[in-house]
Amino acid sequence: MTSLPYAEVIGDPIAQSKSPLIHGFWINALGLSGDYRRAHVLADDLAAYVERRRTDPDWRGCNVTMPHKAAIMDLVDDPGDVRATIGAMNTVVRQPDGSLIGTNTDAAGFYAPLAEIDLAGAPVIVVGAGGAARAVLFALARAGAGPVTILNRSPLKAMGLLATFGLKGEVLALDAPLPPAALLVNASSLGMTGQPALDLDLSPLPEDAIVYDLVYSPLETGLLRAAAARGLATVDGLDMLIGQAALAFELFFGVAPPEGRDDELRALLLA
Ligand code: NAP
Repeated sequence: MTSLPYAEVIGDPIAQSKSPLIHGFWINALGLSGDYRRAHVLADDLAAYVERRRTDPDWRGCNVTMPHKAAIMDLVDDPGDVRATIGAMNTVVRQPDGSLIGTNTDAAGFYAPLAEIDLAGAPVIVVGAGGAARAVLFALARAGAGPVTILNRSPLKAMGLLATFGLKGEVLALDAPLPPAALLVNASSLGMTGQPALDLDLSPLPEDAIVYDLVYSPLETGLLRAAAARGLATVDGLDMLIGQAALAFELFFGVAPPEGRDDELRALLLA
């Protein structure tokens, strides 16, 4: 029996993950002999899962989703600077000798649609202070953005993040009037299906501001609708989802995803 190189996404629950669809699309488009699966891994089984997989030469690695993004950092051989920076790991890559390297592709995935924009010294508003916000703030700090205003339900958490990422800025309540900003990012769960709406008055934003919503279910959130109605440029959550997956795909399979197929992939993800 021949065996195929494979990667997978692990989490609990895992049925909702769109990663198998994205990676499977690229594997087919490139005609690779490889596979990408989903694996339901419970917190109590995480360490045993990692030890089993590290001895499997066909296993190229895994993407990691809730609730394992923190615990996995203790189980890889080389976590790089992920713990000290973003504080959450979403990708594990197996080296040929069985050692495991961990990284986080969310920050680069978030930043990819903004790469052509000079954010140095640009005022930015971030809504949220959870795991996704950490990746966003890490990328913004790297880009030299600031001051950064964080709007969050729990102000202390947000203040801690400004300090962690060495960002100048302030923390405001979710219902505070917005300061002017070049970029507004929703990194909270607000606006997601089943969650309360994110209701912001966008009128203080200048007309060249960009509004970026990480939420991808639904894809067209109330925030993006309001931004488009004001004529502002918008970026939706699928850009980041596809961007973080693209970086992991290359780490697993050694080739970049095919170019020029994003519209097809987006249509598949929305079907
Ligand atoms: P998380 O760690 O649980 O953080 C959730 C954030 O939303 C926190 O700031 C929390 O405020 C806030 N929040 C939740 N419910 C709220 C409510 N009822 N009222 C006010 N604030 C509320 O979640 P996460 O992993 O950061 O994910 C956040 C969002 O980003 C989700 O919609 C997720 O799907 C999306 N996301 C998208 C991508 C992508 O690739 N597009 C990647 C990662 C995440 P407190 O701090 O006060 O609790």
